[in-house]
Amino acid sequence: MKRIGLLGGMSWESSIEYYRLVNEITRDRMGGLHSADCLLRSVDFAEIELLQREGRWNEAGERLATEARDLVAGGAELLVLCTNTMHKVCDAITAAVDVPFVHIADTTAHAVRAAGLSTVGLLATGYTMEQDFYVGRLRDVHGLEVLVPGEADRRIVHEVIYDELCVGVVDDGSRDQYRRIMRDLADRGAEGILFGCTEIDLLVGPADSPVPVFDTTRLHAERAVELAA
Ligand code: GLU
Repeated sequence: MKRIGLLGGMSWESSIEYYRLVNEITRDRMGGLHSADCLLRSVDFAEIELLQREGRWNEAGERLATEARDLVAGGAELLVLCTNTMHKVCDAITAAVDVPFVHIADTTAHAVRAAGLSTVGLLATGYTMEQDFYVGRLRDVHGLEVLVPGEADRRIVHEVIYDELCVGVVDDGSRDQYRRIMRDLADRGAEGILFGCTEIDLLVGPADSPVPVFDTTRLHAERAVELAA
């Protein structure tokens, strides 16, 4: 079994989920007392969020590249960046280390394709929904059509992530908003909904959506365990 390097803390609320999932999936695959061989590097999210908000992506990339090098120095044999948003700087990370990098958008796109779907709605941070690093990759590399909510709803989705889910708040009113936004996306033609932020599964699940959901956290953790086997 290879050692999985989890680069997390963005936020730690979802890193816990990654840690639980890689261990549960390993146990389910291997049985007995087996658990994942992994390292978790958990950064102070306030520092990263400031770099995001100020658009200092190069610095963020340098910072995460350093963290990735440290994980590899600690024995990580593959790397999992436990946030969709920070995949914006994945090139800085992959240039810094020579172990496999499990790209969260690729993993998710493969699951969407395997389900036979081609048009999906995306719920994520504003950065992920509005910039091209994620939507562009889904479109250009994987041929998916990606629908995002309108501006006011993108703001709601973004604020629920940063003001609530990343600080441990799970609110019924916000769940209702997410349900409404997912219904709207399905009405516009989305055949599936991507939970393109690793905290979204803390708020909503398959039962909240009229169409199948693709939870990037779970899919990413599953792929990591598969590659580590
Ligand atoms: N975990 C989130 C994501 O998957 C948002 C926090 C962040 O900006 O890293 O995008």
